[in-house]
Amino acid sequence: MQRDQIIFDLIEDERVRQTNGLELIASENFVSEQVMEAAGSILTNKYAEGYPNKRYYGGCEVVDIIEQIAIDRAKELFGAEYVNVQPHSGSQANTAVYAACLKPGDTILGFDLSHGGHLTHGSPVNFSGKLYNPVFYGVDKESGTIDYNHLEKQAKEHKPKLIIAGASAYSRDIDFKKFRVIADEVGAILMADISHPAGLIAKGILNDPIPYCHIVTTTTHKTLRGPRGGMIMIGKDFDNPFGLKLKNGSLKKMSTLINSAVFPGNQGGPLEHIIAAKAIAFGEALTDEFLHYQIQVKKNASAMADAFVEKGYDIISGGTDNHCMLIDLRNKDISGKDAENALTKADITVNKNMVPFDDKSPFVTSGIRIGTAAVTTRGLKEDDMKAIVDLIDEVIQNHTDETRLENIAEKVNKMMSHRPIFTW
Ligand code: PLP
Repeated sequence: MQRDQIIFDLIEDERVRQTNGLELIASENFVSEQVMEAAGSILTNKYAEGYPNKRYYGGCEVVDIIEQIAIDRAKELFGAEYVNVQPHSGSQANTAVYAACLKPGDTILGFDLSHGGHLTHGSPVNFSGKLYNPVFYGVDKESGTIDYNHLEKQAKEHKPKLIIAGASAYSRDIDFKKFRVIADEVGAILMADISHPAGLIAKGILNDPIPYCHIVTTTTHKTLRGPRGGMIMIGKDFDNPFGLKLKNGSLKKMSTLINSAVFPGNQGGPLEHIIAAKAIAFGEALTDEFLHYQIQVKKNASAMADAFVEKGYDIISGGTDNHCMLIDLRNKDISGKDAENALTKADITVNKNMVPFDDKSPFVTSGIRIGTAAVTTRGLKEDDMKAIVDLIDEVIQNHTDETRLENIAEKVNKMMSHRPIFTW
């Protein structure tokens, strides 16, 4: 077969883009060489429906060992009693949890998408908002932090079966203990979606959801620095309070329901090449080097937020506890869309994002979301964050000046020229 040069040339273009530019998308990162190698390995050829030692296909002896290592490392990393490493993505992890806990039409209480939540937390354009009955909590207008009184009020009024704690664009630590008190008051199951801060949580830098949340979902590719994928965890397994009784009168364990909801409920064969890459990433995450990396991710985000505030930028909640920040650009007279486009021309990648109480559409938006996980992987430190803020400010002030944007791109390329994308 002829090599498909069209696609390989495009992959090379993307390698150059990733290498030369500043990657500030809060949900992205750069994996290690060994994670990449496993993700592109011959394991992609293998079908393995089922779970280790309980498969519906032959020839699973090797992938059984690999998947079990991934499970065991994730358990150790997060202190969980149960882990399912098969979800193909964060969305599929959430889909499976909802399928295990809920019936169509049941009420779920999630973080408003326009305040920082995720599509799968009940947005009307997502299955979660179509199949279930979503209600929302949000942030306080003044402080920009989660309004726990509003959360409690919504919970008491709507009696959701499931409450979701977690976000895609929220820069503050989440009080899972407070969430649990509210969930218990209304008899709801509490799920944390830690897709964004998972790496910081794994190393104890942020509040741990495992002791308080019944179920925890995450992606594996953001601050966790693994391959693209999802995962579901339970700290201490429990009987599903809303489930049908078994013949002996007992309820099914939540872990059993989640396993069935992932396979055969929502997925077929697991991606064993990605599961191998997850296992390697969890092994990396268990090291002290990963702790130092996460400490630097947070330091860089704080330094960046301070530099933005100094330049008169309006950061939602005034700063950050984690790896990301949401900037309201309304006082800079530029939309999120225009800022994203101008920054792209300067080889700086961010994403436009709604800000709480936004008056623009989700396609235009008033804000941008920025994260430090990827630039920290490339070795940048606090002083570099200040330099990046200077460059972003220069772009925003001159966003219609194409020549100026080209000059800034040259500065960005110079800054990144000696920084490889594989650092482990
Ligand atoms: N949950 C949260 C909080 C997220 O931020 C994301 C992705 O951005 C997801 C779920 C979905 O992950 P995926 O894109 O892998 O489906």
